Amino acid sequence: MTSMDQECWTRVKGRLRAELGEDVYSSWFARIDLEGLDDETVRMSVPTRFLKSWIQSHYTERVLACWQAEQATIGRIELTVRSGILRPLPPKEPAAEIHEPSRNGYDGHGFGLRIGATPLSSAHDALGGSPLDPRLTFETFIVGRSNTLAHAAAKQVAATRRSDSVMFNPLYIHAGVGLGKTHLLQSITWAGNAAGERKVLYLTAEKFMFGFASAVKMQTALAFKESLRGIDVLVIDDLQFLQGKSTSAEFCHTLNALIDAGRQVVIAADRPPLDLESVDDRVRSRLAGGLVVEMGSLGEELRLDILRARVMAARQHHAGFDVPAPVLAYIAKTVTHNGRDLEGAVNRLLAHNKLTGYPVTLEMAEREVRDLIRPQEPKRVKIEDIQRVVARQYNVSRADLLSSRRTANVVRPRQVAMYLAKTLTLRSLPEIGRRFGGRDHTTVLHAVRKIEGLVGSNTELAQEIEGLKRQLQD
Ligand code: ADP
Ligand code: MG
Repeated sequence: MTSMDQECWTRVKGRLRAELGEDVYSSWFARIDLEGLDDETVRMSVPTRFLKSWIQSHYTERVLACWQAEQATIGRIELTVRSGILRPLPPKEPAAEIHEPSRNGYDGHGFGLRIGATPLSSAHDALGGSPLDPRLTFETFIVGRSNTLAHAAAKQVAATRRSDSVMFNPLYIHAGVGLGKTHLLQSITWAGNAAGERKVLYLTAEKFMFGFASAVKMQTALAFKESLRGIDVLVIDDLQFLQGKSTSAEFCHTLNALIDAGRQVVIAADRPPLDLESVDDRVRSRLAGGLVVEMGSLGEELRLDILRARVMAARQHHAGFDVPAPVLAYIAKTVTHNGRDLEGAVNRLLAHNKLTGYPVTLEMAEREVRDLIRPQEPKRVKIEDIQRVVARQYNVSRADLLSSRRTANVVRPRQVAMYLAKTLTLRSLPEIGRRFGGRDHTTVLHAVRKIEGLVGSNTELAQEIEGLKRQLQD
């Protein structure tokens, strides 16, 4: 290999790091080596089979693109597992804990004051739990119509003592972005650990994957598993991000082991268990077998309460900050999207007020939050709802839609339902096939094309479909 090859490789690594972020990069690519390079093929090696299959299944395209950006002729990546010959240790790359900067450029903790993480009880730290935000506690969580049940269940979980039997397991909370999932999960973690009796560990699904993968890298996977089993409550956030066969198998083991041992598991995701793509049927049904709670969008009243609470909190550090009631009402009415935007809105008013010294007025608020006012995001549509609504429309049963019957009166509704599943949800074709009685993705594709073709010429069908879409979306 020439030194030019090496330089090229260094730049490729730089690209990967920039595109994937430090955390992902250091988990998967820190130990990848360049073995050789010719016009078309790049040969690289990694130390374990697990890393090889992970990179192949998740990052091949990305790695290839990064190489092609350096040398356009490259068309192939070869990845091998290095033999056990001793090599010098690579320089240690710190697995930096990254705090996502928030969209609006403030530090996300708002109020111009960064509260240091309070030391947590041992379990969470020792196991490398994901960072907790000290503001996300039950005290700051506002209960409203859309989250009453989720909140009550979370409280119940947090208050359970070691000697009590677990009431619902797992507790599975799902909701769209910014509706308070992380807030509730971290509240459980803070409250549980503060009581000191139980070990509560909060992990994002990504952290779970990294934890597992780096344990594999360091050949301490067994210890990692054991330590997970030593906790009382495992809280996993954003489960929809769990990917990869071996991690989801690992997740499955951990879940089963914990539940069987009477430990509590709490999960949050942006979709119901049945819609999770990367876990297998056993896990799905296990997840669905506990208490599944959905949190709906924040109603206007709840938005107003959240805003009031935010302003109160800000006033503790900025005594002069005042937001008149009409301004609060205006924001609650117009910034409807989610809790993050409400937080953003208050942060902007505060920043503006602090920087200019001008009081908060309706006019100023209108200017400051203009871009947070977005058209109502389309409702999350679930495949189950589609099947239910379509079955009702065409007077067949949901079981008919899932069955293998091929009579015309079920074939068309089934195709319509698949078409709607493809257009109204983000589910993949194979996933949709699975949800329609285990059909192949080509069948789904055929159905989608068929209906797409028909709506162009058949106005009656087009209207029916429009009607169904309306029913599903509002
Ligand atoms: P998710 O994890 O569902 O995407 P988060 O829990 O991160 O959402 O919530 C986004 C923001 O909205 C956070 O600042 C959170 O504190 C706030 N928020 C959401 N729901 C509530 C609530 N019921 N009470 C107080 N704040 C809330
Ligand atoms: Mg979240």
